[in-house]
Amino acid sequence: MLVSEIFKSIQGESTFAGLPCVFVRLAGCNLSCSWCDTPYARVPDEAIEMTIAEVFEEVGGFECPLVEITGGEPLLQEEALELAVELLESGHRVLIETNGSVPLSRVDPRVVKIVDVKCPSSGHAGSFLMENLEHISAEDELKFVIGSREDYDSAVRFLEEFLMGRTQKVLFAPVRTALSPAELSGWILKDGLRVRLQLQLHSYIWPGERGR
Ligand code: SF4
Repeated sequence: MLVSEIFKSIQGESTFAGLPCVFVRLAGCNLSCSWCDTPYARVPDEAIEMTIAEVFEEVGGFECPLVEITGGEPLLQEEALELAVELLESGHRVLIETNGSVPLSRVDPRVVKIVDVKCPSSGHAGSFLMENLEHISAEDELKFVIGSREDYDSAVRFLEEFLMGRTQKVLFAPVRTALSPAELSGWILKDGLRVRLQLQLHSYIWPGERGR
């Protein structure tokens, strides 16, 4: 598999935020979001080729029960599915963070999926694969990265029209350079939304550092 980096850090996003977590960042992505914070992971030239066994061994060395497979877009690589199963079988809690545009149907149901729904300011509104809704369970999380009022309104519309109670775990994350957490929080409170404000914890602990 094509790996961008493997490291242990504090989980900065999702309902697992704050917990120690090993990240397996796979290289390559089918999108190019305007605010992408891991552009280096989209460039396969900077990645290294590793076998599933090698990745498994490196992850095991951290002795950490929580592992996230991320990217780039991890589900572009077939091996990500097998790696997830091996990690599950060895007792890890496994998260997969995906951009929502790639089928989720073959992901092991024990994996917690953290699934983006891209908003207009990303440049990829409409990239979410609607059939993926069938594979969102109550344990999975839907994430909206919001950079403007237009993004916010589109996220709210999506929840009203399509979520249908599939999960209560909905994350609204402001684009750090475009929207203040206070403004987004104000909208959420005013509208009485049952969503979770998400700030990227790692970017406050280690601003701008790669591999964190
Ligand atoms: S899907 Fe993720 S990795 Fe790909 S361009 Fe968007 S933010 Fe970057």
